[in-house]
Amino acid sequence: MLDMVALVGRPNVGKSTLFNGLTRTRDALVHDEPGVTRDRHYGYCRLEPTRPFIVCDTGGVSGEDEGLAGATSRQSWQAAAEAAVILFIVDAKSGPDVLDHEILKGLRRLNKPMVLVINKTDGKNTGDAIHEFADFGFKHVLPISAAHQRGVPELLALVLQLL
Ligand code: GDP
Ligand code: MG
Repeated sequence: MLDMVALVGRPNVGKSTLFNGLTRTRDALVHDEPGVTRDRHYGYCRLEPTRPFIVCDTGGVSGEDEGLAGATSRQSWQAAAEAAVILFIVDAKSGPDVLDHEILKGLRRLNKPMVLVINKTDGKNTGDAIHEFADFGFKHVLPISAAHQRGVPELLALVLQLL
């Protein structure tokens, strides 16, 4: 069985955009509306052919327990539980969010290798972005721009180290 890497974070931070970049597909729906991906969505990452792995896109953790948003959140936690490595995606454009802190609490309990992926660093100083998320306390932090495929090779190298 191939190892799985889960993309976890609140809606609209760019998880599906990163999924498409890692899997080189447009399989995942990318949309301006938060919460477009409601279930779990798996794809192969073959960017490093000698070490393929599976990427799981998730709909995002919303902080809701009820209805569709609740179901979507539970799917995200399921993916995190199955993952060998978790990529916690946050948004440099909006900065840290209370929901990010909540998600982080849940992720910490899983005790798995994690990377803080700061997306949407295009049009922003990456040093500032890293500084804004410093109190998240991550060992592995990577600023990227999923939309521009910036930082994705570095992220891939880090994931391969952690797998
Ligand atoms: P998800 O809900 O976390 O899966 O987020 P999506 O991948 O659907 O992206 C949400 C929105 O953010 C879309 O409008 C994307 O075009 C935009 N987006 C994604 N990545 C980036 C990025 O690196 N930079 C910028 N500026 N926008 C991005
Ligand atoms: Mg999505």
